[in-house]
Amino acid sequence: MLTGSGADDTVNTMAVRKILKFPDPILKETALVVRNIDSQVDELVSDMLETMYAAPGVGLAAPQLGVSERIIVLDVGEEKGKNIIKLVNPVIAEKEGSITWEEGCLSVVDFTENVERANRILVKGWTTDEKEIQIEAEAFLAVALQHEIDHLDGKLFIDRISRLKRDIYRRRVKKWIKEGVPLEDKKPTVHI
Ligand code: ZN
Repeated sequence: MLTGSGADDTVNTMAVRKILKFPDPILKETALVVRNIDSQVDELVSDMLETMYAAPGVGLAAPQLGVSERIIVLDVGEEKGKNIIKLVNPVIAEKEGSITWEEGCLSVVDFTENVERANRILVKGWTTDEKEIQIEAEAFLAVALQHEIDHLDGKLFIDRISRLKRDIYRRRVKKWIKEGVPLEDKKPTVHI
């Protein structure tokens, strides 16, 4: 978002950006490692949070906004804004157990399906203050972190379901596009 000139220039404005929807090809790309955690990253992270809350959702990855960089944000807490996670270059270092969760995605409109993932994970990454951090997560937070990190590798949750179910969904989306139904009008039912 552009601000006016003068005093406003120093204000870090936040903006809701457009969320890319399947089958946008950018969602299939492997995102690049962030080399510099600079003010552009800060601005992107602010926009990611703003966009996530506006959706509303509990997690978002930079590629969903068309930025193919390894950055994710999450807030799975009950009270909005109290449990914000902002991670640059996150890596899953350890995985344990399994859990099945009904997932949806802000980029996969009007569809949910059960996905099996690790129940406990250890994630390593960097904060936007350039500090190295580790996060131990289980259950829903572990699911959400794995879902967002998948986005950085060009993977959607529909890549983790049966081919039959994925094809049915793909055909539905193709039909919507053919009929000119704006995907923006189709809301996700679960919001990871
Ligand atoms: Zn997603």
